[in-house]
Amino acid sequence: MRDEIYRSEKLSVLGELAATIAHEIRNPITVSKGFLQLLKARSQNETDLKYAIHAIEEIDRAEGIISEYLMYAKPQAERVEKIDVKAHLSNVMSITDPYVTSKGHIVESQLEELYVYADSKKLTQVLINLIKNAAEAIEKNGKITIHTFAQKNHAVIEITDTGIGMNEEQLLRLGDPFYSTKSKGTGLGLMVSYRIIEALGGTIRVQSKQGIGTKFSVFIPMDVDT
Ligand code: ADP
Ligand code: MG
Repeated sequence: MRDEIYRSEKLSVLGELAATIAHEIRNPITVSKGFLQLLKARSQNETDLKYAIHAIEEIDRAEGIISEYLMYAKPQAERVEKIDVKAHLSNVMSITDPYVTSKGHIVESQLEELYVYADSKKLTQVLINLIKNAAEAIEKNGKITIHTFAQKNHAVIEITDTGIGMNEEQLLRLGDPFYSTKSKGTGLGLMVSYRIIEALGGTIRVQSKQGIGTKFSVFIPMDVDT
């Protein structure tokens, strides 16, 4: 038992250090990106332009990793409030719809009136992650279905896609830090999402079939009176 306590204390010190480093690295990276953009604008030939574009893309990836990591590791004050799931999802969908429709997919939603207690920003982050993943899993002209309902004392938010799906081995790796099958992925989105939902006492379940699609179900405990 003592060992476990010791280990988690050590982890939190490491976590804090990592968050500080991530934060400190962000500034020089942002400055470098600015100069690379200047170089890109001044590039004299195709090759220079190509190199600048690559460098900027990689900096964007590094920035993505840092932002996602900080979102998870930074000791932010939790702002738990009563959330109208239906209104919240409509708002999230207004953020994700341009991205999803630009890829040629359609979104269908069936939203029931539900309320949960959560940190609004963090819940938004989870839902954007899941919807983005769904859109990225579909090769072309697919459908994303968003469905909410109450099940016992949980609010359930289901995000289903008609994408490539995952095999058993891939399913087991979901939520592992830096696990990504995408060339520009960070592999942090799901890890962060799992942590956020677990902190609310909820869970995320995944069902998937290769070539058919995937369903992510987010369960958030609900106050029975709400
Ligand atoms: P990223 O999106 O940056 O790759 P995530 O943590 O969000 O990182 O997802 C990790 C991996 O899980 C993805 O690279 C992908 O292989 C797999 N994945 C997540 N959502 C889906 C989905 N809806 N359908 C198929 N695979 C998925
Ligand atoms: Mg993702």
